[in-house]
Amino acid sequence: MKNQIVIVGGGTAGITVAARLRRAIPKADIAIIEPSGKHYYQPLWTLAGGGVLPKEATERDEATVIPKGVNWLQDAVTEFRPEKNALMTRNGKELSYQYLIVAPGIQIDWHKIKGLQGAIGKNGVCSNYAYKHVSSTWDSLRDFKGGNALFTMPNTPIKCGGAPQKIMYLAEHYFRKQGIRKNANVIFTTAGKSIFGIPKYRKTLERIVSERGIETRFKHNLIEILPESKEAIFEQLDSGNRVVIPYDMIHVTPPMSAPDFVKTIPLANEVGWGDVDPYTLQHKRYANVFALGDASSLPTSKTGAAVRKQAPVLVNNLLATMKNQPRTSHYDGYTSCPIVTGYGSLILAEFDYDGNPKETFPFDQSKERESMWLLKRYGLPPLYWHGMLKGLA
Ligand code: FAD
Repeated sequence: MKNQIVIVGGGTAGITVAARLRRAIPKADIAIIEPSGKHYYQPLWTLAGGGVLPKEATERDEATVIPKGVNWLQDAVTEFRPEKNALMTRNGKELSYQYLIVAPGIQIDWHKIKGLQGAIGKNGVCSNYAYKHVSSTWDSLRDFKGGNALFTMPNTPIKCGGAPQKIMYLAEHYFRKQGIRKNANVIFTTAGKSIFGIPKYRKTLERIVSERGIETRFKHNLIEILPESKEAIFEQLDSGNRVVIPYDMIHVTPPMSAPDFVKTIPLANEVGWGDVDPYTLQHKRYANVFALGDASSLPTSKTGAAVRKQAPVLVNNLLATMKNQPRTSHYDGYTSCPIVTGYGSLILAEFDYDGNPKETFPFDQSKERESMWLLKRYGLPPLYWHGMLKGLA
Protein backbone atom coordinates (compact mmCIF):
# COMPACT_ATOMS: atom_id res chain seq x y z
CA MET A 1 0.00 0.00 0.00
CA LYS A 2 1.20 3.51 -0.70
CA ASN A 3 0.13 6.88 0.65
CA GLN A 4 1.67 10.26 0.00
CA ILE A 5 1.63 11.27 3.68
CA VAL A 6 1.43 8.75 6.50
CA ILE A 7 0.79 9.84 10.09
CA VAL A 8 1.60 7.38 12.87
CA GLY A 9 -0.78 7.95 15.79
CA GLY A 10 -4.25 9.51 15.80
CA GLY A 11 -3.94 11.19 19.19
CA THR A 12 -3.67 14.91 19.88
CA ALA A 13 -0.69 15.46 17.60
CA GLY A 14 -1.67 13.15 14.74
CA ILE A 15 -5.21 14.50 14.36
CA THR A 16 -4.16 18.15 14.71
CA VAL A 17 -1.55 17.79 11.98
CA ALA A 18 -3.88 15.79 9.73
CA ALA A 19 -6.56 18.48 9.99
CA ARG A 20 -4.09 21.25 9.17
CA LEU A 21 -2.64 19.33 6.23
CA ARG A 22 -6.12 18.62 4.91
CA ARG A 23 -6.87 22.34 4.91
CA ALA A 24 -3.52 23.26 3.34
CA ILE A 25 -3.58 20.62 0.57
CA PRO A 26 -7.15 19.35 0.17
CA LYS A 27 -6.18 16.80 -2.47
CA ALA A 28 -3.30 15.24 -0.55
CA ASP A 29 -3.45 11.53 -0.02
CA ILE A 30 -3.15 11.23 3.79
CA ALA A 31 -3.40 8.14 5.99
CA ILE A 32 -3.46 7.91 9.78
CA ILE A 33 -2.46 4.65 11.43
CA GLU A 34 -4.13 4.46 14.84
CA PRO A 35 -5.01 1.22 16.67
CA SER A 36 -7.47 2.66 19.19
CA GLY A 37 -11.18 3.02 18.47
CA LYS A 38 -11.30 5.88 20.99
CA HIS A 39 -9.71 9.32 21.24
CA TYR A 40 -9.13 10.96 24.63
CA TYR A 41 -8.81 14.53 25.84
CA GLN A 42 -6.32 13.59 28.56
CA PRO A 43 -5.98 17.01 30.25
CA LEU A 44 -9.42 16.45 31.78
CA TRP A 45 -8.31 13.21 33.46
CA THR A 46 -7.05 15.34 36.37
CA LEU A 47 -10.56 16.71 36.91
CA ALA A 48 -12.15 13.27 36.40
CA GLY A 49 -9.80 11.84 39.06
CA GLY A 50 -10.88 14.67 41.36
CA GLY A 51 -14.55 13.86 40.83
CA VAL A 52 -15.36 17.08 38.94
CA LEU A 53 -16.70 15.25 35.88
CA PRO A 54 -17.18 11.67 34.68
CA LYS A 55 -14.25 10.22 32.76
CA GLU A 56 -16.62 9.45 29.87
CA ALA A 57 -16.65 13.21 29.16
CA THR A 58 -13.03 12.88 27.97
CA GLU A 59 -13.69 10.16 25.39
CA ARG A 60 -14.89 10.26 21.75
CA ASP A 61 -15.00 7.67 19.01
CA GLU A 62 -11.84 7.93 16.95
CA ALA A 63 -13.91 7.90 13.76
CA THR A 64 -15.50 11.23 14.77
CA VAL A 65 -12.14 13.04 15.02
CA ILE A 66 -10.51 11.76 11.83
CA PRO A 67 -10.69 14.67 9.36
CA LYS A 68 -12.94 14.09 6.36
CA GLY A 69 -11.05 12.68 3.40
CA VAL A 70 -8.24 11.26 5.54
CA ASN A 71 -7.82 7.51 5.40
CA TRP A 72 -7.82 5.82 8.85
CA LEU A 73 -6.10 2.45 9.12
CA GLN A 74 -7.05 0.87 12.42
CA ASP A 75 -3.75 -0.87 12.91
CA ALA A 76 -0.51 -0.33 14.85
CA VAL A 77 2.95 0.33 13.47
CA THR A 78 5.50 -2.25 14.56
CA GLU A 79 8.56 -1.30 12.56
CA PHE A 80 9.97 1.62 10.58
CA ARG A 81 12.04 1.10 7.43
CA PRO A 82 13.07 4.67 6.57
CA GLU A 83 15.69 3.54 4.03
CA LYS A 84 12.80 2.10 1.99
CA ASN A 85 10.29 4.84 2.95
CA ALA A 86 8.13 2.12 4.41
CA LEU A 87 6.75 0.78 7.67
CA MET A 88 5.28 -2.47 8.90
CA THR A 89 2.05 -2.89 10.84
CA ARG A 90 0.75 -5.39 13.36
CA ASN A 91 -1.59 -6.82 10.70
CA GLY A 92 1.43 -7.66 8.56
CA LYS A 93 0.96 -4.85 6.02
CA GLU A 94 3.87 -2.98 4.50
CA LEU A 95 2.97 0.63 3.91
CA SER A 96 5.11 3.01 1.91
CA TYR A 97 5.04 6.79 2.03
CA GLN A 98 6.58 9.88 0.53
CA TYR A 99 6.39 11.79 3.81
CA LEU A 100 6.09 10.40 7.31
CA ILE A 101 4.89 12.06 10.54
CA VAL A 102 5.68 10.21 13.74
CA ALA A 103 3.25 10.91 16.61
CA PRO A 104 2.51 7.76 18.64
CA GLY A 105 2.70 9.44 22.07
CA ILE A 106 4.53 8.24 25.16
CA GLN A 107 4.65 4.76 26.65
CA ILE A 108 3.59 4.26 30.26
CA ASP A 109 5.98 1.81 31.90
CA TRP A 110 3.76 0.45 34.70
CA HIS A 111 5.92 -2.68 34.83
CA LYS A 112 8.99 -0.73 35.95
CA ILE A 113 7.58 -0.34 39.47
CA LYS A 114 7.61 -3.67 41.22
CA GLY A 115 4.19 -4.74 42.48
CA LEU A 116 2.34 -1.87 40.78
CA GLN A 117 0.57 -3.78 38.02
CA GLY A 118 -1.17 -6.09 40.46
CA ALA A 119 -1.97 -3.30 42.89
CA ILE A 120 -3.18 -0.43 40.70
CA GLY A 121 -6.86 0.39 40.87
CA LYS A 122 -7.59 -1.10 44.30
CA ASN A 123 -7.00 -0.60 48.01
CA GLY A 124 -5.96 3.02 47.72
CA VAL A 125 -3.47 2.59 44.84
CA CYS A 126 -4.56 4.82 41.98
CA SER A 127 -3.42 6.82 38.96
CA ASN A 128 -4.78 9.44 36.59
CA TYR A 129 -2.35 8.26 33.91
CA ALA A 130 -4.70 5.80 32.19
CA TYR A 131 -8.35 6.11 31.26
CA LYS A 132 -9.16 2.77 32.87
CA HIS A 133 -7.61 3.81 36.20
CA VAL A 134 -8.93 7.39 36.50
CA SER A 135 -11.99 6.33 38.49
CA SER A 136 -9.74 4.62 41.04
CA THR A 137 -8.38 8.05 41.97
CA TRP A 138 -11.81 9.42 42.81
CA ASP A 139 -12.65 6.18 44.67
CA SER A 140 -9.41 6.48 46.68
CA LEU A 141 -10.13 10.10 47.62
CA ARG A 142 -13.63 9.23 48.82
CA ASP A 143 -12.50 6.13 50.72
CA PHE A 144 -9.65 7.95 52.47
CA LYS A 145 -10.39 8.64 56.13
CA GLY A 146 -6.91 9.66 57.35
CA GLY A 147 -3.24 8.64 57.46
CA ASN A 148 -0.68 9.09 54.68
CA ALA A 149 -1.85 10.27 51.26
CA LEU A 150 1.13 9.98 48.88
CA PHE A 151 1.53 11.54 45.43
CA THR A 152 4.54 10.42 43.40
CA MET A 153 6.54 11.74 40.44
CA PRO A 154 9.11 9.51 38.68
CA ASN A 155 12.67 10.08 37.44
CA THR A 156 11.78 9.92 33.73
CA PRO A 157 10.26 12.45 31.34
CA ILE A 158 6.47 12.29 31.65
CA LYS A 159 3.52 13.85 29.88
CA CYS A 160 2.23 16.91 31.68
CA GLY A 161 4.86 17.45 34.34
CA GLY A 162 2.32 19.29 36.51
CA ALA A 163 -0.29 16.52 36.66
CA PRO A 164 1.34 14.57 39.55
CA GLN A 165 0.84 17.58 41.83
CA LYS A 166 -2.46 18.88 40.41
CA ILE A 167 -4.33 15.87 41.75
CA MET A 168 -2.59 16.32 45.10
CA TYR A 169 -3.95 19.88 45.47
CA LEU A 170 -7.43 18.62 44.60
CA ALA A 171 -7.11 15.80 47.14
CA GLU A 172 -5.88 18.13 49.87
CA HIS A 173 -8.77 20.51 49.20
CA TYR A 174 -11.23 17.61 49.16
CA PHE A 175 -9.96 16.37 52.54
CA ARG A 176 -10.47 19.88 53.94
CA LYS A 177 -14.02 20.00 52.57
CA GLN A 178 -14.74 16.60 54.14
CA GLY A 179 -13.41 17.78 57.52
CA ILE A 180 -10.72 15.09 57.63
CA ARG A 181 -7.67 17.21 56.79
CA LYS A 182 -6.37 17.10 60.38
CA ASN A 183 -6.16 13.30 60.15
CA ALA A 184 -4.22 13.39 56.88
CA ASN A 185 -0.52 13.68 56.04
CA VAL A 186 -0.37 14.83 52.43
CA ILE A 187 3.06 13.96 51.03
CA PHE A 188 4.52 14.78 47.59
CA THR A 189 7.41 12.48 46.71
CA THR A 190 9.34 13.41 43.59
CA ALA A 191 12.52 12.24 41.91
CA GLY A 192 13.10 15.92 41.07
CA LYS A 193 14.90 18.41 43.26
CA SER A 194 12.17 21.04 43.44
CA ILE A 195 8.40 21.36 43.15
CA PHE A 196 8.50 22.89 39.61
CA GLY A 197 11.24 23.77 37.14
CA ILE A 198 10.32 27.35 36.25
CA PRO A 199 11.20 29.85 39.02
CA LYS A 200 8.24 32.18 38.44
CA TYR A 201 5.66 29.44 39.10
CA ARG A 202 7.82 27.54 41.59
CA LYS A 203 7.65 30.48 44.01
CA THR A 204 3.85 30.35 44.18
CA LEU A 205 3.78 26.55 44.44
CA GLU A 206 6.32 26.57 47.29
CA ARG A 207 4.12 29.03 49.16
CA ILE A 208 1.00 26.92 48.55
CA VAL A 209 2.71 23.74 49.72
CA SER A 210 3.97 25.42 52.86
CA GLU A 211 0.65 27.17 53.71
CA ARG A 212 -1.35 23.97 53.22
CA GLY A 213 0.98 21.83 55.30
CA ILE A 214 1.95 19.54 52.43
CA GLU A 215 5.15 17.59 53.07
CA THR A 216 7.65 17.38 50.18
CA ARG A 217 10.27 14.66 49.74
CA PHE A 218 12.63 15.51 46.89
CA LYS A 219 14.94 13.04 45.10
CA HIS A 220 12.67 10.17 46.11
CA ASN A 221 11.96 7.77 43.26
CA LEU A 222 9.22 5.16 43.71
CA ILE A 223 10.53 1.65 42.92
CA GLU A 224 8.10 -0.75 44.58
CA ILE A 225 4.61 -1.06 46.04
CA LEU A 226 3.84 -3.61 48.76
CA PRO A 227 0.02 -3.76 48.64
CA GLU A 228 -0.28 -6.27 51.53
CA SER A 229 1.47 -4.04 54.06
CA LYS A 230 0.47 -0.81 52.22
CA GLU A 231 4.04 0.41 51.94
CA ALA A 232 5.74 2.34 49.15
CA ILE A 233 9.47 1.82 48.62
CA PHE A 234 11.56 4.67 47.27
CA GLU A 235 15.15 5.03 46.23
CA GLN A 236 16.71 8.15 47.72
CA LEU A 237 18.60 9.36 44.67
CA ASP A 238 21.57 10.99 46.48
CA SER A 239 22.39 8.15 48.85
CA GLY A 240 20.89 5.20 46.95
CA ASN A 241 19.21 4.19 50.24
CA ARG A 242 15.78 2.53 50.32
CA VAL A 243 13.13 4.60 52.06
CA VAL A 244 9.85 2.98 53.16
CA ILE A 245 6.74 5.17 53.50
CA PRO A 246 3.46 3.56 54.63
CA TYR A 247 0.40 4.78 52.72
CA ASP A 248 -3.34 4.82 53.16
CA MET A 249 -3.71 6.06 49.59
CA ILE A 250 -1.09 6.56 46.89
CA HIS A 251 -1.50 8.31 43.55
CA VAL A 252 1.24 6.96 41.29
CA THR A 253 2.67 8.76 38.30
CA PRO A 254 4.44 5.86 36.60
CA PRO A 255 7.74 6.06 34.72
CA MET A 256 7.40 6.70 30.98
CA SER A 257 9.56 6.39 27.87
CA ALA A 258 9.36 6.42 24.08
CA PRO A 259 7.19 3.59 22.71
CA ASP A 260 9.27 0.41 22.35
CA PHE A 261 8.77 0.26 18.57
CA VAL A 262 10.20 3.79 18.28
CA LYS A 263 13.13 3.19 20.67
CA THR A 264 14.68 0.45 18.64
CA ILE A 265 14.63 1.94 15.17
CA PRO A 266 16.89 4.07 13.00
CA LEU A 267 14.58 7.07 13.56
CA ALA A 268 15.32 7.28 17.30
CA ASN A 269 17.97 9.26 19.14
CA GLU A 270 20.22 7.63 21.74
CA VAL A 271 17.45 7.66 24.38
CA GLY A 272 14.73 6.48 22.04
CA TRP A 273 12.72 9.55 21.03
CA GLY A 274 11.98 10.40 17.37
CA ASP A 275 15.15 12.37 16.62
CA VAL A 276 14.09 15.71 15.16
CA ASP A 277 15.51 19.21 14.94
CA PRO A 278 14.15 21.13 17.97
CA TYR A 279 13.17 24.15 15.85
CA THR A 280 11.98 22.73 12.51
CA LEU A 281 10.67 19.32 13.75
CA GLN A 282 12.29 17.67 10.75
CA HIS A 283 14.15 14.43 11.30
CA LYS A 284 17.89 14.89 11.64
CA ARG A 285 18.77 12.19 9.08
CA TYR A 286 15.64 11.59 6.97
CA ALA A 287 14.41 14.81 5.36
CA ASN A 288 10.98 13.35 4.54
CA VAL A 289 10.29 12.43 8.16
CA PHE A 290 8.92 14.73 10.87
CA ALA A 291 7.88 14.12 14.49
CA LEU A 292 5.98 16.01 17.16
CA GLY A 293 4.23 15.48 20.45
CA ASP A 294 5.16 13.20 23.31
CA ALA A 295 7.15 10.68 21.22
CA SER A 296 9.46 13.31 19.76
CA SER A 297 12.87 14.37 21.03
CA LEU A 298 11.72 18.02 21.38
CA PRO A 299 13.30 19.09 24.68
CA THR A 300 10.23 20.73 26.17
CA SER A 301 7.62 19.69 28.71
CA LYS A 302 5.35 17.19 26.94
CA THR A 303 1.81 18.61 26.73
CA GLY A 304 -1.12 18.99 24.38
CA ALA A 305 -0.61 22.75 24.57
CA ALA A 306 2.91 22.25 23.21
CA VAL A 307 1.47 20.17 20.36
CA ARG A 308 -0.87 23.07 19.49
CA LYS A 309 2.18 25.24 18.75
CA GLN A 310 4.25 22.46 17.16
CA ALA A 311 1.61 21.41 14.62
CA PRO A 312 1.54 24.59 12.46
CA VAL A 313 5.35 24.72 12.42
CA LEU A 314 5.55 21.10 11.31
CA VAL A 315 2.93 21.59 8.60
CA ASN A 316 4.62 24.74 7.22
CA ASN A 317 8.00 23.02 7.14
CA LEU A 318 6.58 19.88 5.54
CA LEU A 319 4.91 21.98 2.83
CA ALA A 320 8.21 23.81 2.26
CA THR A 321 10.05 20.47 2.01
CA MET A 322 7.52 19.25 -0.54
CA LYS A 323 8.25 22.34 -2.67
CA ASN A 324 12.02 22.12 -2.15
CA GLN A 325 11.95 25.42 -0.33
CA PRO A 326 13.79 26.34 2.89
CA ARG A 327 12.08 25.51 6.20
CA THR A 328 11.48 28.89 7.77
CA SER A 329 8.96 28.09 10.54
CA HIS A 330 10.50 27.73 13.98
CA TYR A 331 9.11 26.25 17.19
CA ASP A 332 10.42 27.99 20.30
CA GLY A 333 9.62 25.21 22.79
CA TYR A 334 6.35 26.80 23.94
CA THR A 335 4.48 24.63 26.39
CA SER A 336 1.81 25.24 28.95
CA CYS A 337 0.84 23.58 32.18
CA PRO A 338 -2.47 24.61 33.75
CA ILE A 339 -1.62 23.77 37.37
CA VAL A 340 -4.87 23.11 39.20
CA THR A 341 -4.29 24.21 42.80
CA GLY A 342 -7.74 23.38 44.22
CA TYR A 343 -11.41 23.16 43.23
CA GLY A 344 -11.84 26.56 41.61
CA SER A 345 -8.22 27.77 41.37
CA LEU A 346 -5.41 27.41 38.85
CA ILE A 347 -2.00 28.81 37.88
CA LEU A 348 -1.54 28.92 34.11
CA ALA A 349 2.18 28.26 33.59
CA GLU A 350 3.38 28.97 30.03
CA PHE A 351 7.05 28.97 29.00
CA ASP A 352 9.54 28.22 26.22
CA TYR A 353 12.73 26.15 25.75
CA ASP A 354 14.73 28.60 27.87
CA GLY A 355 12.24 28.53 30.73
CA ASN A 356 11.13 32.09 29.96
CA PRO A 357 7.45 32.71 30.69
CA LYS A 358 5.41 33.13 27.46
CA GLU A 359 2.10 34.16 28.94
CA THR A 360 -1.12 34.64 26.98
CA PHE A 361 -2.93 37.01 29.32
CA PRO A 362 -2.01 40.57 30.36
CA PHE A 363 -2.02 39.69 34.09
CA ASP A 364 0.45 37.81 36.29
CA GLN A 365 -0.28 34.15 35.56
CA SER A 366 1.75 32.90 38.52
CA LYS A 367 -1.19 33.89 40.79
CA GLU A 368 -3.94 31.39 41.56
CA ARG A 369 -7.09 32.44 39.72
CA GLU A 370 -10.65 31.22 39.44
CA SER A 371 -10.84 32.57 35.87
CA MET A 372 -8.05 30.22 34.79
CA TRP A 373 -9.83 27.28 36.44
CA LEU A 374 -12.95 28.18 34.45
CA LEU A 375 -10.81 28.34 31.32
CA LYS A 376 -9.53 24.80 31.91
CA ARG A 377 -12.90 23.41 32.95
CA TYR A 378 -15.12 25.06 30.34
CA GLY A 379 -12.95 26.90 27.77
CA LEU A 380 -10.16 24.55 26.74
CA PRO A 381 -12.20 21.38 26.04
CA PRO A 382 -14.30 22.99 23.26
CA LEU A 383 -11.17 24.72 21.96
CA TYR A 384 -9.64 21.24 21.70
CA TRP A 385 -12.53 19.38 20.08
CA HIS A 386 -13.78 22.14 17.77
CA GLY A 387 -10.63 24.23 17.22
CA MET A 388 -7.39 22.31 17.53
CA LEU A 389 -8.59 18.95 16.20
CA LYS A 390 -10.19 20.74 13.23
CA GLY A 391 -6.93 22.50 12.38
CA LEU A 392 -8.38 25.89 13.33
CA ALA A 393 -6.67 26.72 16.66
P1 FAD B 1 -1.37 11.03 22.47
O1 FAD B 1 -2.41 12.08 22.45
O2 FAD B 1 -1.24 10.18 23.67
O3 FAD B 1 -1.61 10.13 21.18
C1 FAD B 1 -0.78 9.07 20.78
C2 FAD B 1 -1.60 8.15 19.89
O4 FAD B 1 -0.73 7.19 19.26
C3 FAD B 1 -2.63 7.35 20.67
O5 FAD B 1 -3.92 7.54 20.10
C4 FAD B 1 -2.15 5.92 20.56
O6 FAD B 1 -3.21 4.97 20.52
C5 FAD B 1 -1.38 5.94 19.24
N1 FAD B 1 -0.40 4.87 19.12
C6 FAD B 1 0.26 4.23 20.11
N2 FAD B 1 1.01 3.25 19.61
C7 FAD B 1 0.85 3.27 18.27
C8 FAD B 1 1.37 2.49 17.21
N3 FAD B 1 2.20 1.47 17.43
N4 FAD B 1 1.00 2.77 15.94
C9 FAD B 1 0.14 3.78 15.70
N5 FAD B 1 -0.40 4.56 16.68
C10 FAD B 1 -0.04 4.30 17.95
N6 FAD B 1 -1.60 18.45 28.32
C11 FAD B 1 -1.94 19.77 28.37
O7 FAD B 1 -1.68 20.49 27.41
N7 FAD B 1 -2.56 20.31 29.47
C12 FAD B 1 -2.90 19.55 30.54
O8 FAD B 1 -3.47 20.05 31.51
C13 FAD B 1 -2.56 18.16 30.52
N8 FAD B 1 -2.86 17.37 31.56
C14 FAD B 1 -2.67 16.03 31.49
C15 FAD B 1 -3.06 15.22 32.54
C16 FAD B 1 -2.91 13.84 32.48
C17 FAD B 1 -3.33 12.99 33.64
C18 FAD B 1 -2.35 13.25 31.30
C19 FAD B 1 -2.22 11.76 31.20
C20 FAD B 1 -1.92 14.05 30.25
C21 FAD B 1 -2.07 15.44 30.33
N9 FAD B 1 -1.63 16.28 29.29
C22 FAD B 1 -1.91 17.63 29.36
C23 FAD B 1 -0.72 15.78 28.22
C24 FAD B 1 -1.35 15.58 26.85
O9 FAD B 1 -2.52 14.79 26.93
C25 FAD B 1 -0.33 14.93 25.92
O10 FAD B 1 0.89 15.65 25.98
C26 FAD B 1 -0.82 14.90 24.47
O11 FAD B 1 -1.95 14.06 24.37
C27 FAD B 1 0.29 14.43 23.53
O12 FAD B 1 -0.19 14.19 22.24
P2 FAD B 1 0.41 12.97 21.35
O13 FAD B 1 -0.39 12.96 20.11
O14 FAD B 1 1.88 13.07 21.29
O15 FAD B 1 0.08 11.66 22.22
